[in-house]
Amino acid sequence: MTRAADSPWAIPVAQVAQRAGQSKPIDADFPAPSGIGDAIVGVTEGEPVHLSGSMDSIVDGLILNARLSAPVHAECTRCLKPLSGPRELDVVAFFPFEDPREQRQLQGEVEIVAGEEEADDGNTYPLADSGTVTDIEALLRDNLVEALPFKALCKPDCRGLCPQCGVNLNEHPDHHHEVSDDRFAALTSFKARLEREAQGRQAGPAAE
Ligand SMILES: [Zn+2]
Ligand SMILES: [Zn+2]
Repeated sequence: MTRAADSPWAIPVAQVAQRAGQSKPIDADFPAPSGIGDAIVGVTEGEPVHLSGSMDSIVDGLILNARLSAPVHAECTRCLKPLSGPRELDVVAFFPFEDPREQRQLQGEVEIVAGEEEADDGNTYPLADSGTVTDIEALLRDNLVEALPFKALCKPDCRGLCPQCGVNLNEHPDHHHEVSDDRFAALTSFKARLEREAQGRQAGPAAE
């Protein structure tokens, strides 16, 4: 079995977990986990994600208060310009000393159903190796996926691309097409022919 301490996402916490009121500063790079977005919007696996903040112990667990800085790549949803740069977000996570399910089993009450809600409780992550280490791979993934931009824009008033030919309208603000585009010309003459035919059929005083 691999030890949690050997993971590139391991943070040793034995000292800070000794008693409540301890604090351990954290200022380090971790590799971006896999599965954060995709090639268009995401964080490339292995890119450094910086974590700075502190791990503090309270009575029933450890609290991580930190700022994450990750190299997020994206593209403008209107003009497709590649956008990349560090994205910063604040993270608060809780690491309980005891798994509530384990504790209940020790007390002889095996209640598996009740444990489910706690596991769903946002930023709560387990400690490993008898509470001496925590692995923040899942924490990084969860928080970074949530922070990915849904609709990135290169600038708030990006004009996007010409829907007809794809020219970037930011670079060519005066770009436009003559209305007598070939396809429109064909449609116009077709419509005129239909109208002539219709008139031909209902030629008579009743027509408007
Ligand atoms: Zn744009
Ligand atoms: Zn165009």
